[in-house]
Formats: sequence, C-alpha cells, structure tokens
Amino acid sequence: MTDKKPIIVIGAGAAGLCAADALVEAGYDAVIFEASDHLGGRVRSLEGFADVPIELGAEEIHGPDNAVAAAARALGMETVHHVTMDDVLRLDGELLALDQAQADPDVRRAFDVIDSLGDYRGENWTAEEFLVRSHFPRRAWHYLDSRLGVEHGTTLDRLAMRGFATYQRGWEARETNYTLKGRYLDLFQPMIKRLEGRIRLNTPVAAIEWNDAPRVRLQNAGEHPAAAIIVTVPLTILRERLLHFSPQLPPEKVAAADSIGMDTGMKIILKFKHRFWDDGMYFLHTDGFLPQFWTAAKGKSDTAHVLTAFVGGTRAETLDNMSVDPVRFAIEELDEVFGAKIASRSFERGLIADWGADPWIRGLYSYPTPQTTEAVREALARPLAGKIFFAGEATNTLGASGTVHGAMDTGWRAAAEVRAALE
Ligand SMILES: Cc1cc2nc3c(=O)[nH]c(=O)nc-3n(C[C@H](O)[C@H](O)[C@H](O)COP(=O)(O)OP(=O)(O)OC[C@H]3O[C@@H](n4cnc5c(N)ncnc54)[C@H](O)[C@@H]3O)c2cc1C
Repeated sequence: MTDKKPIIVIGAGAAGLCAADALVEAGYDAVIFEASDHLGGRVRSLEGFADVPIELGAEEIHGPDNAVAAAARALGMETVHHVTMDDVLRLDGELLALDQAQADPDVRRAFDVIDSLGDYRGENWTAEEFLVRSHFPRRAWHYLDSRLGVEHGTTLDRLAMRGFATYQRGWEARETNYTLKGRYLDLFQPMIKRLEGRIRLNTPVAAIEWNDAPRVRLQNAGEHPAAAIIVTVPLTILRERLLHFSPQLPPEKVAAADSIGMDTGMKIILKFKHRFWDDGMYFLHTDGFLPQFWTAAKGKSDTAHVLTAFVGGTRAETLDNMSVDPVRFAIEELDEVFGAKIASRSFERGLIADWGADPWIRGLYSYPTPQTTEAVREALARPLAGKIFFAGEATNTLGASGTVHGAMDTGWRAAAEVRAALE
C-alpha cells in the first residue's frame, strides 16, 4: 500500500483509464489529471450527426483476441465484421470490386507486397523507397497508399519497411477487423464508473518534478505530491517538450521520443442524402489526393449515408498549407471518382475531426520511421528512478502501438510496474 500521497495518472485516454482502474482495483489511491474537457482521449464518439454514433477517433477493432475485443464481448456490444473483399478500388478511372480488381497483375503485386511485409528483413528503407527501388507499377500505387500509408496514419515516404514486421505481429488483423454498432467510448464506461470522483478534467499538467519526492505542477496553478506518476500523454506532447521535466528527461528518452513518427491528420466526415456507392462497399481506395474513404455507418444503419475520408502525413500537411476547406475538397474528389457531380448533389452535412489541431493530442497516432527500432520503444516505456512511469500507445513494445488495445495494455503494464516499485 502507498502512503497518503496518491498515484497521479496524466491523461484520461485508454491507457490512463486502464492504469488508474487497475491501481484502484488493487487497493491503491489513484487520480487522473486530464487536460481536455472530456474522457477517452483519441476515443471520441459523436452523437447527433447521423442516426448512429460516428467515431471521430478510433473506429475499428483490429482482431478478435485483444483487450478491446474482449471488452466488447464482455459488455455484449454488437460488432460489424469487415473483410477486404468488401472494398472498392479505382483503377484506370474505373471503380472495381476488389475481387474483380485482384485479377489485375499490378493489384496482385500490391497484395503480394502487403502479404510479405511481416517477413521483410531488407534494407532500412521507407515504404516509398522500397516501392521505387522495386519498380512497383504506378497505376496500383494508390492502393498501397491507402492500405499502408493511410492505415498507419501517415504517408509511404515516412513509414519504415522494417517497422512492418513488428506491426504484423501485434496489429495486422487481416480479415478480422470489426466496428462497433454502438459508441466506442462505451467500452470504457465500466471503468469510468469505477473511477468516479477520481478524474479531474480541464486539468493540464505543466511539469513533473522527480528529483526527490515526485510531484506534478498544474498549468492552472497548484502542486500535487504523488507516490508515483504515470505519464500517458500522446507522443507529440513529449516530442514538442510541452510537458516540462525537472530534472530533464535522460537523453535516451528524448532521443526515443524523437525517433518515432506521429503526424498531423484528420478525418473528413460527410453525410449524404442518398447512397451513390455500392451497397456492400466498406473501404474505397481511390487514385485521388485522398486515397481512402469508408462507409462509416455500414452494418449499423440503412438510412445514414456517411463516408469518412482519412488523411495523414505529407498529404495532411499539404491540405493544411493549401488552406482549402477539407469538406469541400473531399466532395470534389468524390465527384471526380463517381462522376456527374453526384456527391455535390447529394451532400447534406460535413465535419472534420482535425487531430493535429487538438492542443492535447497534436496528431494521429505513432508509426515506425526508419529510426524506430524496438529498443527505441523500450526506451520510451522505461520508468525513471522507480517514480515516473510511461504508458500510452507509443510505448507499446509488442507491436500494437497506434491502437486502442495496444494503449490499454500499456496502461495495465504501467500499473503493474508502479505496484512492483511501491511494494
Ligand atoms: C483519427 C484516429 C483514428 C484511429 N483509429 C483507430 C482504430 O480504428 N483502431 C484502433 O485500435 N486505434 C485507432 N486509433 C488510435 C487510438 O485511438 C489510440 O492509439 C489510443 O486511443 C491512444 O490512447 P492513449 O491513452 O495512448 O492516448 P490518448 O487517448 O491520446 O490519451 C492521452 C490523454 O492525455 C491528455 N493530455 C495530453 N497532455 C496532457 C497534459 N499536459 N496534462 C493532462 N492531460 C494531458 C490528452 O488530452 C488525452 O486525453 C485512431 C486514432 C485516431 C486519432
């Protein structure tokens, strides 16, 4: 047991909630300080836009054997199963169901690239460099932009080939991807209930002191001593030095944070009066500037016609720099893909979830750059002096960084580390 000082958890996303819940469950006094005005962090469900909840952040469950899938089953939450062959690919200006498109040799080559990523032991190249060097055909390139670049929250010029091997172990769910019929955030309701009275919203932590007795300094004034501190803030907050440490973080921790990628990006969510795409479509992989859209209400509602575009990396930066209205831009892209201004004519409402602009998130999720070795993730996760502990998706060393289940696992891992240190 601890003395009277609580364990302070910074951040009320998936990792912070799991960490605090596990500690309270084990009889410890834990509190969460959350900078924003809401719980869940990058899990954020929106009501009222359509007749089903729309996810602004995490949306899919990657695989049946992880913490998120288990929580959904325990709560009896219904899921929708998505398979690759439900996708539509634009090739040479034509929209093809993927089972049709796979007859094309260049598309088959793209499938082969994806299938062999887990075994990649080659040079430490970016995915783009690898494709250029292997003379991968341009006409099918956009399928990989979508399936690899967009999926990892960035673009192929930043994503590392070697990083894929780790991801294939902890992330790639192949034909076992699901969405929830209800709100993603509801997965955390039992924890949120158990933590009632222990979570302080609108409470940004400005600094952590850890030379002697650990304590946090709040941005709005006030200092709080702690028995231990668990830091679960997004990677960008560490990378941009927005959380001050005294003494400073050791150089290997700073280098680790700087070696992992996390880019700006957004979801562009569009609601239409009519469906103008094939009924069965889930992902639409286009050859436009926005490589990926999907049917966000598929399997949930027959009346909500919603397409979400997802963009990160250099594409999201270009979009930001062009100062265009992303909603208008996405509609124009769809007009180009489907023709006859059908998207413009059917458009009803749009919104953007700009995660790069969120002051406490500042991006999408972490991904491997050529500098991101497994040792780098381990250095990011390593506790400091048995007092300061690190969780959050970017600290996942089991290949599940960038996911909700991966973030949850790090929260439980950090709670166990705190217990071991305090006992
Ligand atoms: C658009 C998008 C789509 C995604 N899609 C999927 C998906 O389909 N499937 C999937 O598994 N994952 C997906 N993810 C990734 C997933 O959402 C994250 O990996 C996971 O939610 C991260 O949880 P976390 O606890 O590590 O961090 P967060 O949820 O970011 O929590 C960290 C918290 O720290 C708070 N904070 C920051 N600074 C401070 C401070 N100084 N003081 C106090 N609090 C602070 C933040 O406000 C935040 O609430 C997606 C993410 C995004 C953005």
